[in-house]
Amino acid sequence: MKTTLVTDIALLRHAIAQARRSGRTIGLVPTMGALHAGHLSLIKAARAETDFVVVSIFVNPTQFGPKEDFNRYPRPLERDLELCGQAGADLVFHPQPEVMYPSDYRTFVEVTGLQDVLCGASRPGHFRGVATVVLKLLNLVQPDRAYFGQKDAQQVRIVQQMVRDLNVPVEIRVCPIVREADGLALSSRNEYLEAEERRQATVLHRALTKAQRRIEAGEHDAAVVRQVMVEQIASVPGAVLDYAAVVDADSLQALDRIDAERPVLLALAVRFGSTRLIDNLLIR
Ligand code: AMP
Repeated sequence: MKTTLVTDIALLRHAIAQARRSGRTIGLVPTMGALHAGHLSLIKAARAETDFVVVSIFVNPTQFGPKEDFNRYPRPLERDLELCGQAGADLVFHPQPEVMYPSDYRTFVEVTGLQDVLCGASRPGHFRGVATVVLKLLNLVQPDRAYFGQKDAQQVRIVQQMVRDLNVPVEIRVCPIVREADGLALSSRNEYLEAEERRQATVLHRALTKAQRRIEAGEHDAAVVRQVMVEQIASVPGAVLDYAAVVDADSLQALDRIDAERPVLLALAVRFGSTRLIDNLLIR
């Protein structure tokens, strides 16, 4: 299928208006490109549930810290466009940074309470950038449904809260984490890994599933469950723990006790050399 590439806002609005006029429902899949099977699962879900599928490919500068990998982030546009076409996207929106943030840009969205924990603690300002760009994309595309991966559990929670608080008329759809055969969650950042780091990186999923089994076996003490993950990560030389957390899936606040009534999120961020990987498991 042929995907239309659009880089400016007027043409995007025109294409969206045309799709709307013909009575089609619109699905939006926001991405930073370097697409893999995780992204494609979102595009396919959008294809199955909406009539006109828009994929945004935008490496959003406002969600990167000054020492993070904004410049180094992979940008294989030709390949991405081909994959979007294969997965059934109708339109790819790929703006330059100055289209999204002109030099006099001043407005940012903050989702207080949820933005400063977990990844927000080690990446100050990250979720302010995420919430801002997602709201801009939702305003530009005005989709009926927008698709996000559970891989970025905190991002999902923040987007859901923002949409509710700001009365954005969109349904947020959350798709399961796509993993490699050995459990590693697909991520555009996996390509940074050296061969040895790639082998070691399976420890994230191992740590999460071991902690999950402990909960299923009846452990209620969140500190004990967290320690299971900490020890697993520590057993791999070269894996440096950023955080291991057992949190309430709704508030993202650390839990003392795990009980059957509240969904629990097990979340990990681990560094291998200069590459930081995240993963999580939602236990209902
Ligand atoms: P990114 O390009 O990393 O900003 O990701 C774009 C979207 O794809 C986000 O909603 C991610 O949560 C989602 N995503 C990334 N990796 C995966 C994965 N392994 N499985 C499912 N969704 C993913």
